[in-house]
Amino acid sequence: MQIAIVGGGPGGLYFAILMKRLSADHRILLFERDAVDETFGWGVAFAETTLATLRHSDQVTFDALLRHAVMWDQLDVLHRGERVTVRSTPYAGIARQTLVGILRQRALDLGVEIRFGTTVRDVRTLPDADLLVGADGANSLVRRSLADGFVPSLHAGSNKYIWLGVHYRLEALTLAFRRTPAGVFVAHSYPFAADQSSVVIECAEPTWLRAGLDRRSDPDACNYLSDVFAEELSGHLLQSNDRMHWKHFLLVENTHWHTDHAVLVGDALHTVHFSTGAGTRLALEDAIALAAAFGGRDDPRAALPAFETARRPAAAAEQAQARASLSWFEQPDRLLTLSPIDLAHRAIVETHRVEPSRLAELDPAFYARVQQHSGA
Ligand SMILES: Cc1cc2nc3c(=O)[nH]c(=O)nc-3n(C[C@H](O)[C@H](O)[C@H](O)COP(=O)(O)OP(=O)(O)OC[C@H]3O[C@@H](n4cnc5c(N)ncnc54)[C@H](O)[C@@H]3O)c2cc1C
Repeated sequence: MQIAIVGGGPGGLYFAILMKRLSADHRILLFERDAVDETFGWGVAFAETTLATLRHSDQVTFDALLRHAVMWDQLDVLHRGERVTVRSTPYAGIARQTLVGILRQRALDLGVEIRFGTTVRDVRTLPDADLLVGADGANSLVRRSLADGFVPSLHAGSNKYIWLGVHYRLEALTLAFRRTPAGVFVAHSYPFAADQSSVVIECAEPTWLRAGLDRRSDPDACNYLSDVFAEELSGHLLQSNDRMHWKHFLLVENTHWHTDHAVLVGDALHTVHFSTGAGTRLALEDAIALAAAFGGRDDPRAALPAFETARRPAAAAEQAQARASLSWFEQPDRLLTLSPIDLAHRAIVETHRVEPSRLAELDPAFYARVQQHSGA
């Protein structure tokens, strides 16, 4: 088959790898606007179960990822100067640059042709292919160009967020709430290397304006936010990598997942709020399901509906979660009326969707504290 893929993030690259493993005869051409050693963002986190899935799909990638990942199994919630620690299922963090680098190298080794530094501006200029994969992220050009077929719906969150990093290793996934004269800021942080952590900061737009963040340069904004979260970061300075600017989270959904010979995967198809730490996993799982739908048969007309049927229920559940998380973090003033233990409990149950019975198993001491606290 001739396959054209737009976007060399985790979704597009992993699909290319799996299709080449199915048949070395597939001619796969992948277009990526970034240069070979460039990508956006800092580190990403995913549940250990994702690593198990990856091991099954491609041992070589799995081994490389494992060599670079850092692991943890707790969630820390910081509120009113108190730290509440809850035991969680194991998580792995890895630099996005490393993750994408490993996938790019593996794809190249298997014979995928990657055109780095090539922004696709018009899908009609792409070479003829039996299959066109839109793996080009939340603002997908493929989705926009074929919108009549995909019928997407987009919803922008009201909060502003920025993706920053710090040369300091946090212990675990950390959720910190800070009230300032400008309003409430929330930091979602996690380690991704021996000495680095990702820090995503969000706040309501009026808070952002009152704090003057619309006018501050990146370094100035980093200094301001480093002060807000000085205690959580042990005084280390936040850094921007010049690629990320303040954004509104974009919830992407599509009525149809494929149209004619084109299909979407990953963020182009469906986004999930960053607080759930599930976007990369979803993109990789899409790639696995799409490759499995081909299963060695070169027939997009059969494979694309099979892919949608197999993946839709899981994706719908994740997106329901994403919507819940999005609105949870859009009401920080209400959240801050909760005690630290109640806030930690609700974060686990509402944004990480841990069932009470699972929580009781993972952290019996915390569960007992919650029960005591609620008078149950
Ligand atoms: C702040 C933040 C924190 C996050 N944290 C986590 C986390 O901890 N864990 C997690 O699992 N997920 C996290 N995510 C989500 C995760 O980054 C995405 O879900 C994931 O990257 C989706 O992969 P993808 O391959 O679908 O798209 P992307 O990773 O967005 O890749 C798309 C690629 O397409 C390229 N491209 C786009 N348009 C074109 C074009 N026209 N021509 C050529 N190339 C193009 C881009 O350069 C990019 O390389 C986070 C997201 C954000 C915003």
